[in-house]
Amino acid sequence: MTPLDWITAELNRLSREGLLRKTRCVRPLGEGWCEVDGRRLKNFASNDYLGLAGDPRLHEAATAALSECGSGARASALVCGRTEWHQRLEQRLATFEGTDAALLFPTGYAANVGTIAALVGHGDVVLCDRLNHASLVDGCQLSSARLRVYPHGDIETVERELVKAADARRKLIVTDSLFSMDGDAAPLKELWDAAARHGAMLLVDEAHATGVFGATGRGLTEESGLEGRPIIKVGTLSKALGSQGGFVAGPRALIDWLFTTARTQMFSTALAPAACAAACAALDVVEREPLRRQRLLSEAERLRRRLTSSGLQIPTGTVGPIIPVLLGDPEQTLAAARALEERGHLVAAIRPPTVPRGTSRLRISLTVQHTPADVDALAADMIEVLRSHPS
Ligand code: PMP
Repeated sequence: MTPLDWITAELNRLSREGLLRKTRCVRPLGEGWCEVDGRRLKNFASNDYLGLAGDPRLHEAATAALSECGSGARASALVCGRTEWHQRLEQRLATFEGTDAALLFPTGYAANVGTIAALVGHGDVVLCDRLNHASLVDGCQLSSARLRVYPHGDIETVERELVKAADARRKLIVTDSLFSMDGDAAPLKELWDAAARHGAMLLVDEAHATGVFGATGRGLTEESGLEGRPIIKVGTLSKALGSQGGFVAGPRALIDWLFTTARTQMFSTALAPAACAAACAALDVVEREPLRRQRLLSEAERLRRRLTSSGLQIPTGTVGPIIPVLLGDPEQTLAAARALEERGHLVAAIRPPTVPRGTSRLRISLTVQHTPADVDALAADMIEVLRSHPS
């Protein structure tokens, strides 16, 4: 017996429940293809929405930074890790987002956790959508503020909780803009109005919407007409921007505050300069090539219609490149994902704790690298596979 034996028992339990995660090695092959366990698959599980992670323009920019600064940042931004590449990207992000300033974090996860914990604490109230990303939930919990989880998108509960929180020192609403596992959009305009009425702050995580939504690619805040409001905008460089790292964009005072108080930024090594350079190049592409997001969104809409009309269970309100197909049971979801792999498609099997119990799902993540023929092939195989693995 060792003090670690309980771990093996727990792993066995997770395996029995279909909830064990296994490591896999994925080799990107370009053009949306990858190789997993020796099999060539079309990748419908990546967040590289605009196909930029393999873009030569990003590589060229990253190579220049790599040659100049080396592979690592050497220290946190507060100490000596902030290079010209970091400064340039922060300025570029602020211009892109139309905000006073922006601040980089090592990851989007760290941006959410560190920002929430820097904005609220004891004596404050934080309101969190039930389906928010884990990093928002973790930030709320770490903050020590009183946490109120509201039903998904339920603006009436938000209003009620804000009334109840009238005596709180500070109030903060946190939400994904495009929900990462459900693919639907938060009622951002209503949340902003409620926040403004009650003197609350609003933090919007645009991780899956930056570069994908909005006339200039700024995300769903732009699409909702919320430009210019003092919203705390969180983003990641790791999805549509094809790089790595997180950021917050907003008013100057907010950014100054986070630079000296957000612990996940203060006590973690700054981003690799090459990641900053690649993200800068990606922002240029987002601005110059709006056709990428337009094609992505119209292809996603076509796939959604095709799957829905075949009777598959797609949650209502799904609007972008994330298309979940609900199955419910984790084992069945895994079996369906395996069957799709045998037909050449990599689709993520999403299970608890990523989603609530009973809502396991296949999550299709479309990118601009999927051709109409790829999408048609996936739809046909999915319909066939799910007929033989009914939920
Ligand atoms: N927010 C959301 C909504 C996400 O889906 C993710 C990543 N899955 C993150 C934040 C974290 O971003 P990063 O991968 O850059 O840590």
